[in-house]
Amino acid sequence: LSAPIYFTPGPSELYPTVGAHIQTALEAKIPAISHRGKTYQEFHGRAVSNLRELLGLPSDWSVLFLSSANEIWERALQNTVGHKSAHLVNGSFSKKCFSFASDLGLQTQKLTKPEGESFRASDILLESDVEALFVTHNETSTGASMPVDEIHALRKQFSGLIFVDAVSSLPYPSFDFSKIDSVYFSVQKCFGLPAGLGVWLVNNRVKDRQLILKEKGKSTGTYHRLDELLAQAEKNMTPETPNVLNIFLLSKVTEDLLNKGIGQIRRETEEKASALYVLCAEENGYLRPFVKDSLFRSATTIVAETSISPSEINKQLASLGMAVGSGYGNFKDNHIRIANFPAHSPLQMEQLIDALKKINR
Ligand SMILES: *Cc1c(COP(=O)(O)O)cnc(C)c1O
Repeated sequence: LSAPIYFTPGPSELYPTVGAHIQTALEAKIPAISHRGKTYQEFHGRAVSNLRELLGLPSDWSVLFLSSANEIWERALQNTVGHKSAHLVNGSFSKKCFSFASDLGLQTQKLTKPEGESFRASDILLESDVEALFVTHNETSTGASMPVDEIHALRKQFSGLIFVDAVSSLPYPSFDFSKIDSVYFSVQKCFGLPAGLGVWLVNNRVKDRQLILKEKGKSTGTYHRLDELLAQAEKNMTPETPNVLNIFLLSKVTEDLLNKGIGQIRRETEEKASALYVLCAEENGYLRPFVKDSLFRSATTIVAETSISPSEINKQLASLGMAVGSGYGNFKDNHIRIANFPAHSPLQMEQLIDALKKINR
């Protein structure tokens, strides 16, 4: 049997056009070209403008290419926090970002929720010396999402910088970019691309903050220092030799997503998610939604408690050419995690749901 359809939450199924785009890239020898030449600048620029259009990003925001979301955590902290950051922690990814801050020697304020829950703005009271708040829109380890309205509401109660991890949700959420300062994602989740490219969106407040820290004599990092990234981005380039192939593929896949239309992508995401939650609600089923409060249920990562082991489920799915994610960390053996990304067609999702219904106990 050939490789399965990956419903794993990252890396995940490749967007269906990626194979053809890789072929095009090889024929044009894209991986061999200079990252300082016109050809490169042209598709770097197209990736940026396509993302702007797809996400409705204001023109004064910048789009920067780094290596991963892990790197963006470190760069965001190094470039904008001189003293103290605050973190909303409700799972493994938000916790890792928090631990980066303490490892960098920063003071931190940590607000926590149990796994499977997320935050409302009214839960959050920040200490007066917090400079930046790190929020996770979609906690991929548990399938708990913070509603976009609750993220926007933070602006009224906090004047520092608001960073949003939307790694496993963009382009699904529709952000009001006047209410946040930065968003980031990596391409191996919802963009259906190979791993190794992180995308960092920043507004002028973030840019100004780095310059202030630098003027004060604080180190704000090295080759991916924000002012360096921005100076190169002006020219549709990066400070280092970047992931040229993946930036090319991003320029192509974003075009495909634009052709499909963001409205259609969002509608399909919601329809597929509803069908998965209906499956989890079946009376005699073996799946239960891990996130109990429907307000916090993710549309892009559906996590279910399972009374049949994930390895048994995947063994049976394998014969049908499908694979789901097992639980994260401590939940390895009693959760499955199902990615619901633009690469997963409504038909494929229907087939997965049928297959999950027929698992033998
Ligand atoms: C996958 C993921 C990350 C890490 O992404 P990398 O590209 O591996 O650095 C961070 N946050 C969330 C919510 C994720 O799902």
